[in-house]
Amino acid sequence: MNNGKICVSICAKMADEFVGNIKRAEKYADVIELRFDCLSDDELTTALTNVLNNSSEKPFLITFRPAEEGGNRNLSMRERAKFWELLFAKNQTQNIYVDFEFDLKELFNFRTTKSIASFHDFSTVHDKLNWFYEVNSLVPKAQIIKIAAQTDDITDSIAVWKLIEKAKSNNQQIIPIAMGEAGKWTRILGLAYGAFMTYAALESGNETAPGQISAKDLIETYRVKELNEETEIYGIIGNPVSQSVSPFMHNAAFKVNNLNAVFIPFEVKNLDDFIRRMVRKETAEVALNFRGFSVTIPHKQAIIKHLDFIDETAQSIGAVNTVKIKDGKFYGYNTDAPGFIEPLKNTYGDLKNTNVAILGAGGAARAVIYALKKEEANVTVFARNLEKSTDLANKFKVELKSLKSKDQNLNFNDFDILINTTPLGMKGKLEGETPVVALQIENVKLVYDLVYNPFETQLIKEANKANVPTIGGMAMLVAQGMRQFKIWTELDAPMKEMSQAALRKLTK
Ligand code: NAP
Repeated sequence: MNNGKICVSICAKMADEFVGNIKRAEKYADVIELRFDCLSDDELTTALTNVLNNSSEKPFLITFRPAEEGGNRNLSMRERAKFWELLFAKNQTQNIYVDFEFDLKELFNFRTTKSIASFHDFSTVHDKLNWFYEVNSLVPKAQIIKIAAQTDDITDSIAVWKLIEKAKSNNQQIIPIAMGEAGKWTRILGLAYGAFMTYAALESGNETAPGQISAKDLIETYRVKELNEETEIYGIIGNPVSQSVSPFMHNAAFKVNNLNAVFIPFEVKNLDDFIRRMVRKETAEVALNFRGFSVTIPHKQAIIKHLDFIDETAQSIGAVNTVKIKDGKFYGYNTDAPGFIEPLKNTYGDLKNTNVAILGAGGAARAVIYALKKEEANVTVFARNLEKSTDLANKFKVELKSLKSKDQNLNFNDFDILINTTPLGMKGKLEGETPVVALQIENVKLVYDLVYNPFETQLIKEANKANVPTIGGMAMLVAQGMRQFKIWTELDAPMKEMSQAALRKLTK
């Protein structure tokens, strides 16, 4: 256990909602932040009275932030000063944290011991962070300094993270937050490295700042209060990673094995900068205990040049989805190919001389073709861009055919198995789309869709209509994840917990 606190942030429009939300927040919160800037002007006094009369088992943190500091509405200096005077006049602030922006520091001097001086930087240059820290240390009226800075790429968060070390050496309590998806890791690891507090959303979908995570996920999935500087850090590197199921699957596996390890989504745009400035011990500017990564789009090929060793399967496929870091060396593997083939063989049996149609010719298709060729299946790839796919067809010596959008004249009667490796049907803009309809697959014996989110894609529905057995993408997702777990920990992966965690995430 570390000493950090979880602060659940509540942003409600009506005074009455505050009280209901406080009750829900109590389950996970050590501190409950009440964002008064979310209320309209005429609700303020009622809300303050409600809150101060309400007995909660958890201390409150009161915030009244103007838009330029990330608040919910425009507030003049006069309005802000009036609000705080109103609060202090009630003389009940002994047990309440107050969060004030730096320009109000005169107003706050000596008024309360539980004060947080906050500074929000929405540029990504971050040249003011140290200035803010220094100024606050020189005028040490605030018990805690909170510095939140926007990130565009993951290395933008280095400047914020380094303030933890500085604060430690000055005995200053600090809340450092890198905002945005690329800064999410600071919200997960902060407490382990000495941050005073991390902010959390009441529930998923109720985030009050970019990159915020729900309190439930912070505690139950990431176990942030149990982490420390010895915790082994794993994660998925890619862009985007916000929809990834891997953190849920792998953290469930770490938890059931009682491992001091955590798995984090790392949104990385510039892979070279990330490896150089944050991971490789010789060049890293931060000291984080990285032990391995899942690698996803668009870095599966680009990661190869950073490896000290690549295994034969990954080398043949030309893509790495798993990195293990041991004694400072980077080892690369591909678990997509065995993760793909295992559920297929379990369902279909021997694949020798089976006629397989693969739709799509991207990264996943490479692993799929490699695995099927090893089983001596007859593979035909259907791609929308034949020119672009010729190299792949030549490399793996497979037949290449054209896949035209919504071409229902194309039937797959000559094939035993149809595999979709295109993103058609995937959550987002492509959800509900399908590469083929029921009529085209009536005679195939099995349909395997690599898309796993949503759990039941339109292609799976089409196969059901045609009475064709199916395998959904979750089977591969879990199987490739289990192999990653084994590579990293050398333990057998807990299939039940990993599947349940993935399923919960995909069906909620
Ligand atoms: P990728 O490298 O971008 O390849 C996608 C392929 O699909 C490319 O050949 C692309 O053609 C083609 N494509 C894209 N949109 C299409 C459309 N509208 N019609 C026809 N073809 C289209 O992506 P990937 O890494 O291979 O991933 C593909 C899918 O597999 C994703 O949904 C991913 O989530 C899923 N996947 C699942 C697992 C699992 O464990 N279940 C593992 C890996 C991947 P162009 O080259 O012409 O763009």
